[in-house]
Amino acid sequence: MALYVENATKKFGDFTAVDDISLKVERGQMHGFLGANGAGKTTTFRMILGLLEPTHGMVSWNGKPITYGTSPEIGYLPEERGLYPKMKVEDQLIYLAQLRRMPRQEAKREVANWLGRFEVPHYASKKVEELSKGNQQKIQLIASLLHRPSLLILDEPFSGLDPVNVEMLKSAILDFQKEGATIVFSSHRMDHVEELCDDISILDKGKMILSGSIREVKRSFGKQNVRVKTD
Ligand code: ATP
Repeated sequence: MALYVENATKKFGDFTAVDDISLKVERGQMHGFLGANGAGKTTTFRMILGLLEPTHGMVSWNGKPITYGTSPEIGYLPEERGLYPKMKVEDQLIYLAQLRRMPRQEAKREVANWLGRFEVPHYASKKVEELSKGNQQKIQLIASLLHRPSLLILDEPFSGLDPVNVEMLKSAILDFQKEGATIVFSSHRMDHVEELCDDISILDKGKMILSGSIREVKRSFGKQNVRVKTD
């Protein structure tokens, strides 16, 4: 049981956004994607999710190819957050759970459970626009966890957050991994990836320039001209 990306390439017209990348993420592992803006992280995630069809190559999860539009066991935190600002947090999360075919009563219970786990049960009746960016991020993360996906894809989960919320989100993600989930996330920052991940991949201009355990990648790191922002 693993996520396989096999020789995946994505072209937009003549432009190659992702160029022949391969990786394997074992079940229960956390895998980090590092790369500068435009390196191809989001495009890779969209292929893993079945939102974009690879121009060449394939992606499979648990032995089944992920083809366009089919990714039922996958949770996704998109880089562009997609919450409705005027909607109440509880209504929004229940709505999103129901889109995943969760019955309403179960959705209500799960939403209360997750808001409690994130220590924000009092946000249930607030509108999204009333929350800080960090707290909106928590709600968006809850939205991606509600149906308890076995594979969780997080696109820049810590970007723009203050250190307290970064720590909170990290521990929530680690807890979810301990419960058995396989997690892939992207970041600009080596320190976040190093702290959380088993293995990492470094993308540069669509190419996978390094991939492996943190130790292996760090050993090769100094030998290559790797453009990774460390802000
Ligand atoms: P960021 O950190 O800025 O999100 P990224 O590593 O996620 O960067 P991608 O969003 O995957 O990078 O983009 C990789 C390249 O592909 C960029 O040059 C981007 O402009 C291009 N690209 C992405 N989507 C499309 C599209 N639909 N049409 C044309 N080009 C695209």
